[in-house]
Amino acid sequence: MTLQQLKLTCDAPGIGVVQTLRGEVEPRNPYSQWNLCDYTGDDALRVLNARLTFCQQMGIDLDQLVMPRQSHTTHVAVIDQDFFDADIAQQEQLLNDIDALVTALPGICIGVNTADCVPIALADPTHGIIAIAHAGWRGTVGRIAQRTVETMCRLGATPADIHATMGASICADCFEVGDEVPQAFEQAGFDMTEIVRRNATTGKAHIDLWRANRQVLLAAGIPADHITLPTACSRCHSDRYFSARRLGIHSGRTFTAIMRTPNS
Ligand SMILES: [Zn+2]
Repeated sequence: MTLQQLKLTCDAPGIGVVQTLRGEVEPRNPYSQWNLCDYTGDDALRVLNARLTFCQQMGIDLDQLVMPRQSHTTHVAVIDQDFFDADIAQQEQLLNDIDALVTALPGICIGVNTADCVPIALADPTHGIIAIAHAGWRGTVGRIAQRTVETMCRLGATPADIHATMGASICADCFEVGDEVPQAFEQAGFDMTEIVRRNATTGKAHIDLWRANRQVLLAAGIPADHITLPTACSRCHSDRYFSARRLGIHSGRTFTAIMRTPNS
């Protein structure tokens, strides 16, 4: 399994952000090769194998890997000692309908699964707080990144110390949308000049989810020079990243995760 390192705009020894690459892609298999997501139709044993392989490479046990059951909400969950004291059924309940995780615990790897939506990893290395968020267009309109920052701050982080990096996700050229999408962004108060444009040929609207999330992070108080935009589009490069627009929703997901090692 190849894990791509995502860069944070700070020297934060001990904090790592990684994103899975699909690996060897079999033609006509939208789940190949590495998929850690267990609710988009992949075989459960294949998913377990991918998770075990991921954990082995990260040097953690399976119970140190935490990912939510996402559903395009703006709900944020804190992964703390209470979470680990709960039984499996309670943990599943706590992770259900959640699209962002925050933790102050070292040695715990938190991640989200995406196929074109924007994964956003956040770290406050000064206060040892990390987070991961899944922002599709609905989550972006709902300002999930801001809610995640607010939750980090409740645990002791400060916006000026937070650094954010976004993983591979759909680019504006690929993200053609119906008119209801720019309308939702406009109603939510986004600076539309930066995030929407019309394709001259098709007349269709295109939304820049990367810059929309950047606007949310800036409004949450994160300094501009602490924000890193994605370096690749999942749909343009669906051989490397899962893309729901390219492969359909019954496909694998790219896993983006952040972890702080115990002595940082
Ligand atoms: Zn693209």
